[in-house]
Amino acid sequence: MLEDFKPEIVIILRSDEIIKKFKLKRVTINTSFGPVHRCYIGYVYNVPILIIYGRFNGEKVPSNQINYQQTIEVVKIVGANKLIGTFVVGGINPKMPQGSVYILGDLIGIGNYDIKWNQTVPFHNAEMYEPFCSNLSNQLLEASKKMPFLVKDKAIYVCFHGYPRIETKSELEFYNKMGWDIVGQTCDPEATLARLNQICYAGVAVQIDDPSGRLNYIENLKQNKETVTYVEDIKSCRERTTKIILQFLKNYRKYDCDVCNKMIRKNKNFREFPDYFYE
Ligand SMILES: [Zn+2]
Repeated sequence: MLEDFKPEIVIILRSDEIIKKFKLKRVTINTSFGPVHRCYIGYVYNVPILIIYGRFNGEKVPSNQINYQQTIEVVKIVGANKLIGTFVVGGINPKMPQGSVYILGDLIGIGNYDIKWNQTVPFHNAEMYEPFCSNLSNQLLEASKKMPFLVKDKAIYVCFHGYPRIETKSELEFYNKMGWDIVGQTCDPEATLARLNQICYAGVAVQIDDPSGRLNYIENLKQNKETVTYVEDIKSCRERTTKIILQFLKNYRKYDCDVCNKMIRKNKNFREFPDYFYE
């Protein structure tokens, strides 16, 4: 059924609402890493899209064990070259409350992930000076301006692979001092892999907690008070990113990206050692 359906955009999004409302059809995409069953295809406001329902294939695993390459392979297999990631992230800035929404503008890799490189394919580093596609991000920004809530543009996302845990107080204070906005565990290497594959990539994030909420939660535990979890209902947070995606699709203008589709640092002349040493 995919032969006659070519998605314009792939969106990584856990939205039952969109799937039900637009009657998207679940399909399985077979990749070199195995099948991906959580794919939904269909038209949303006349835009052919494919939704990948989150980043976990089957079981939930620590963020550094997520198969990001498999997700990117799905995008390639269906012939799309635009990808939007949606994220639930942690707050850094005490002035930004939970539920705050962001369009991503840059990222900081607090690394320790690695990808398995197929050694029969030549390697090159991704050009990541501007990790997000400005065309795609601008259209998301336009959509976000029509929301009844504020959306922060050009947000800096710290990508931290949690070992698995979330941030300490001192880490958050350090990130805040640096002027970084939000912290999460999945934007990279997804962004890097998108770039390596000449895919336009953009991100929308919603903040699920904030430093004071986390402190209150612990203080309440210490005082043996009735503990209310500090994490706002994830569903109500996700509703905000879903709203932006719907508005984005409603106003979507098709484009060919001269930047992401061409950006590549491949050295075509690479040899293991200079030709004159060959005999
Ligand atoms: Zn682009």
